[in-house]
Amino acid sequence: MNIPELQQEILRLKKEKDICILAHSYQTREITEIADFTGDSFQLSLKAKTAPQSTIIMCGVRFMAETVKLLSPQKTVYLSNPIAGCPMAEQFDKETIAEVKKQYPDYTVVAYINTTTDLKTICDVCVTSSSAVKIVRKLESDNILFIPDCNLGSYVAQQIPEKNIKLLQGGCPIHARVTAKEAAQAKALHPDAELLVHPECIPSVCEQADFIGSTSAIMDYAASSDKKEFIIGTEISIATHLAYNCPDKHFYPLSKNLICPNMKTTTLVDVYNTIIGNGRE
Ligand code: SF4
Repeated sequence: MNIPELQQEILRLKKEKDICILAHSYQTREITEIADFTGDSFQLSLKAKTAPQSTIIMCGVRFMAETVKLLSPQKTVYLSNPIAGCPMAEQFDKETIAEVKKQYPDYTVVAYINTTTDLKTICDVCVTSSSAVKIVRKLESDNILFIPDCNLGSYVAQQIPEKNIKLLQGGCPIHARVTAKEAAQAKALHPDAELLVHPECIPSVCEQADFIGSTSAIMDYAASSDKKEFIIGTEISIATHLAYNCPDKHFYPLSKNLICPNMKTTTLVDVYNTIIGNGRE
């Protein structure tokens, strides 16, 4: 079977078996084309909750499938490729953070959604990249331990200087590898383009941005802006999806290194195998 034939077969089977397929926005187009919903991890878990199907296939990484299961415990949730993990989510285990908490007993522990379910059980609050600033600002406590991403945490701390925000040395290895020099070079190469950056990038990259936001916020900003050119400072698939969605605009990836191999391990064959019963719950 070629790719379009395999996609057609997946679409036929998911209808026949009444399965909902979710694709994170960092998945390739051939995966997003067979998905019922595409979006960020929290958006997808909300979609799964309201979807009529009782079986969900997540095309993304493990913590995303776990988040879907957390919000829809009665549903059967498959991760389409069981080896797809997220290095950031797995950076700190529960035991390590429990030890850190002992050192800072009066701190409220705020976990980014990109953490394992096991780790979330000992945290006080869970946030996404789009809700982090709003939620941390509203917390009663002024002492915050933000885990695991020190770059997102730095961005939150910058927005809320009145709070004492402690960070650990965790983060997304994909976003963190973009350098300030690359950002300056991209801006020099595309002087009419706006630089849109995810807060998982290092502070010296974020400082050069015209807009800082979550993946969904970057997509919404680019789609609704009057501008015609954008440098996209998040996983490379977003520039591809935007180019399809907004054919009258130009999108340049900030760096050729912004490719998450964990997100790219999922293939159409994985999805097909999961549907025909070879997947692991
Ligand atoms: S882009 Fe970063 S945070 Fe997202 S799945 Fe890949 S490693 Fe994890």
